[in-house]
Amino acid sequence: MINQQYKEMLSGKSVIRELSEYATARGKEIGYENVFDFSLGNPSVEVPEEFTNEMIRLLKEEDTMTLHGYTPSLGNPLFKEKIAESLNERFGMNYGPEHIFPTTGAAGAISHAVRAVTKPGDEVIAFAPFFPEYRPYINGAGLELKLVPADFSSFQINFEKFEELLTEKVAAVLVNTPNNPSGIAYSTATLERLSSILKEKSAKFGHNIFLLSDEPYREIVFKGADAPYVSKFYDHTLSCYSFSKSLSLPGERIGYVAVNPACEGADIIVPMCGQISRGTGHNCPPSIIQQAVAPVCGLTADLSVYETNMNIIYDTLVELGFEVVKPGGTFYIMPKALEESSIEFCKKAKDYDLIFVPADGFGAPGYFRMAYCIDTEKVERAMVRLKEFVEKEYK
Ligand code: PLP
Repeated sequence: MINQQYKEMLSGKSVIRELSEYATARGKEIGYENVFDFSLGNPSVEVPEEFTNEMIRLLKEEDTMTLHGYTPSLGNPLFKEKIAESLNERFGMNYGPEHIFPTTGAAGAISHAVRAVTKPGDEVIAFAPFFPEYRPYINGAGLELKLVPADFSSFQINFEKFEELLTEKVAAVLVNTPNNPSGIAYSTATLERLSSILKEKSAKFGHNIFLLSDEPYREIVFKGADAPYVSKFYDHTLSCYSFSKSLSLPGERIGYVAVNPACEGADIIVPMCGQISRGTGHNCPPSIIQQAVAPVCGLTADLSVYETNMNIIYDTLVELGFEVVKPGGTFYIMPKALEESSIEFCKKAKDYDLIFVPADGFGAPGYFRMAYCIDTEKVERAMVRLKEFVEKEYK
């Protein structure tokens, strides 16, 4: 019999994909340079030369059996070693290769991490605004997603609501900082408070509540932002990382889970991830990508354009009277729409070839998201169009 759960999911088409498809179609009509497409979080900067050179070197020099053969089921040893070294150096941690599990991006990392520390029927808490793919990641593991409503004043954590939802049924808490869609990074004070609540409730309930830290934007942090490493604050943390954004490699599907060495089960979680892979048919990312990323895992693409774009957009939004919290990182910003319905607002903007995403699906109704991973020249022209749109429709 056809699986009803997946069949029903077919009707929930992604708004972001739909808008991006519309932008592409519209681009064919009027020229893509005239469509101001802020829909998709696809990196817009070149992959670092060092990665490309390493790929070429591997293809030219490596023995093909090693290069294209199966990797060990828990990952390429060099990749694991280099990741551990890099994290230890940068964040003062003491990971060993045995704490690193290579995955297909952050999506693969979250899907493994959440299965390793829960059982079907458990609850997992996430915080609005949130990445909508959390639903399939969590529900696909037979878990229930509980959402803490946003703190709209700062997009840090709404602790009052969090404590209300944090019951004995909660096995894990999922955070995303810097955040898609708000662009906000959780501050030291936020993470200290989160950690202290988790410690207190874990003691009260008699089981450790695990913290899953989704951090594909960890490297895209702007000047002056307080964006500390989450795992430093709480032992029972599994960090879920991706090179999709930092190295501009989303199509290569490469990331990892890093298990805090002081986490409950730290010695078995990575081998357990290997067992989870057996059940899902995931297995590790392709051998060549693990090998090519290993020596460059401490590098990033030139991410500076994102901060340049953010400043231009933020200043324009403020000038036009939008309510908006200044991002600390990522390539997203999430202002409040100029009318109650962000869906209506985004529809009107579309008539000006400004493609924005209503943030209702991110748990922030009345807001909209702009993904500014596009050329600065285009951002500048888009701001002229935005001014025209606001003047004509809302003044
Ligand atoms: N988490 C967040 C917050 C994201 O924005 C994304 C991708 O955009 C992912 C996870 C998935 O990352 P990946 O494509 O590397 O699997």
